[in-house]
Amino acid sequence: MKPQATDKASPAAGVLTIDRLCIHQVTLMQCNFQQSIECLARHGVTKTAVWKDKLDDVGVSAALRILNDCDVEVVSIIAGGFFTGATAAERAKAYDRNREMLDQAHRLGAKSMVTITGGLAAHDSDLQTARSRVPEGLAALLPLAEQSGVQLALEPLHPMVCGSRSVLSTLREANDVLDALGSPAELGIAIDSYALWWEPDLQSEIERAGPRIENLHVSDWLLQTSDTRLDRGMPGDGQINNREIRSWVEATGFNGPAEVEIFSAEKWWKKPPDEVVAKIVETSAQHL
Ligand code: ZN
Repeated sequence: MKPQATDKASPAAGVLTIDRLCIHQVTLMQCNFQQSIECLARHGVTKTAVWKDKLDDVGVSAALRILNDCDVEVVSIIAGGFFTGATAAERAKAYDRNREMLDQAHRLGAKSMVTITGGLAAHDSDLQTARSRVPEGLAALLPLAEQSGVQLALEPLHPMVCGSRSVLSTLREANDVLDALGSPAELGIAIDSYALWWEPDLQSEIERAGPRIENLHVSDWLLQTSDTRLDRGMPGDGQINNREIRSWVEATGFNGPAEVEIFSAEKWWKKPPDEVVAKIVETSAQHL
């Protein structure tokens, strides 16, 4: 018997309207700060997550002017954290950078700072020690987060980047870290479908995360991926059921935006930005 074609979309979550669509600035890596925000505005997209490097190119005051002129709101600043430095000096440097980022986030009116743990130093194989630095680093940042009124959104990343970007790989571990810290009010979780779609008990861990969920990042996993970090797919082009994941997240009461975050060195970062944003707007109605 011929298998039936099934629609990837699940009916559980409604169609995502454009007012709930956020496009991360990093998705338009080919643009400078101003170009990226103006491009979003041209397509009616009103939300972004700011990439720190692009922000630093212009500074917070100029960034605010551009955002206000274009009527674009900042959901998050990306990416802070990096708690796993091998030396005390490296960890102190990361702390100072986080303090600066929380201040920038506050001035931009961002709700959260997406916080990743960092990986291992070159030739370091002490994964347990690196992991142990995550709750320590988060605990040290909590008073700064409270002062700035910006949430830390802890983001687990795919295990393929455990060595380079994040020693925290699953939502289960993120929930465990928050539990161990007593689930402080300033600490939430960013769920990225690209990082977590494979997790066997994802739905139940999303339920467990519940009101801790700060952000929902989406993109797609390409079957023939050429790079596990820099070859993310456009929603609908790969193997992730983003609408189903969104329905699980929304079942917890989350009503924030779906945030398209596409790192794509060889494809989308090489295209005209208007083409990229138009494609996202079109695909979001179908696949997010
Ligand atoms: Zn993300």
